[in-house]
Amino acid sequence: MRDFIDDNAIQEILDQSVNPEKSRVRDIIGKSRELKGLTPRETSVLLQTEDEDLVNEILSAARDVKRLIYGNRLVLFAPLYIANYCSNNCLYCGFRRDNKELKRVALTMDQIANEVRALEQEGHKRLLMLCGEHPTRSSLDYFIEAIDTAYATKTANGGEIRRINVEIAPMTVADYRRLKAAKIGTSVLFQETYHHETYEKMHPKGPKADFSWRVTAMHRAQEAGIDDVGIGALFGLYDYKYEVLGLLFHALQLEKDCGTGPHTISVPRLEPALNAPAAIAPPRPVSDHDFKKLVAVIRLAVPYTGMILSTRETAALRSEVFNYGISQISAGSRTNPGGYREDSSESFRAAQFNLGDTRTLDEVIGDIARMGHIPSFCTACYRLGRTGKDFMDLAKPGLIQKFCRTNAILSFKEYLVGYASPGTRKAGEELIAKLILDTEQVKMKSKIEDLVGRIETGERDLYI
Ligand code: SAM
Ligand code: SF4
Repeated sequence: MRDFIDDNAIQEILDQSVNPEKSRVRDIIGKSRELKGLTPRETSVLLQTEDEDLVNEILSAARDVKRLIYGNRLVLFAPLYIANYCSNNCLYCGFRRDNKELKRVALTMDQIANEVRALEQEGHKRLLMLCGEHPTRSSLDYFIEAIDTAYATKTANGGEIRRINVEIAPMTVADYRRLKAAKIGTSVLFQETYHHETYEKMHPKGPKADFSWRVTAMHRAQEAGIDDVGIGALFGLYDYKYEVLGLLFHALQLEKDCGTGPHTISVPRLEPALNAPAAIAPPRPVSDHDFKKLVAVIRLAVPYTGMILSTRETAALRSEVFNYGISQISAGSRTNPGGYREDSSESFRAAQFNLGDTRTLDEVIGDIARMGHIPSFCTACYRLGRTGKDFMDLAKPGLIQKFCRTNAILSFKEYLVGYASPGTRKAGEELIAKLILDTEQVKMKSKIEDLVGRIETGERDLYI
């Protein structure tokens, strides 16, 4: 499999759509409302739109598309960093090998179990497990043992991890097969930048210097049978418009070669990090205004692909962009291995980057419930085999709503009963009561009432 990103082609598409005519922009917005996605050229026109009224129309269309396909659910997860040793020297990352001030840690299995217990006791059910790239300190054997440990760690009140997504360095098909056998959910990998020259500058040493090996990794993961793969670009390294087209070309290539596009697209933006020059002074910073626009354009270009937003962003910005297409968020995160158990300022010297949103999971859930979003910890599709192409076939308006809305309510109820503070519990119960009231189908309404009542009286892990 060869590198399929053509810098010249992407730049040419962007150059050809500078200052688009209003009518063309409106036609494309109209087409995006048909939920069939957009071509790279159409996407480029939206990206090149600078007229404020039109940008607002793009945001408004994204809001409608998000609501139609995903309803008002937001799936929650926690990142779990298990080790920060790294052989690479990515100029933006606190884990880079030249950062001699970083406190290096590779958690033992006992420490990993402790971290998982802390997360379960907060109510988490879904993890994203990560580490640096290091042949001995972060070997695949070690990583797989960590996955097994996390799945095996249970706490009172139904505390357990039901889905582990992973974000680790690219590997061979044979190694991806081992990850699949360890029962991972999604395999996520960010290309960082799709612009070759910038990529080369940002990754001066180590295995990550190989652009092609990285950009073809999610093809290998799919070849190994991992149906759900996630891609992403680190915004701030190069022109954000270019990166959105890079993501789209990547998604289209996966669809063409593997039959399914990515399950998720992540939109991380550069945050300050210890001794990381490109994070302290991002080469191409993306303003909040442009960030909202890019999230909305991705939503319109690939309507059925989930979009992930992390705690890199502030609470206020997160609250706003949820509406433009985000379907999954992290909450209560730490980016230093061991961070969920320790809380000393010293431990932050082991962190990958600084966080924009430092609210606890309970605070995030209370806030989003008050805004009318349904916090979801659901893992039903993955456990029932509704993944990859099956998921995409299902992901038509109405169907996602039917399963996901109900399962979101059930997993949210489980959270409220087991873990919520009184204020969050009150806001959550009010939301659930309203959602039940709004359920039009009589059969479904009584089914939800029944299942919610069973959770109240102690049953756990109910889904349809
Ligand atoms: N080491 C693996 C890798 O690079 O793919 C695993 C994931 S790494 C721990 C997670 C991601 O963090 C990177 O892909 C990068 O996009 C992101 N990251 C690194 N430094 C960052 C920073 N300063 N601000 C925001 N995100 C950052
Ligand atoms: Fe290592 Fe990943 Fe950080 Fe690069 S981004 S230094 S590969 S942990």
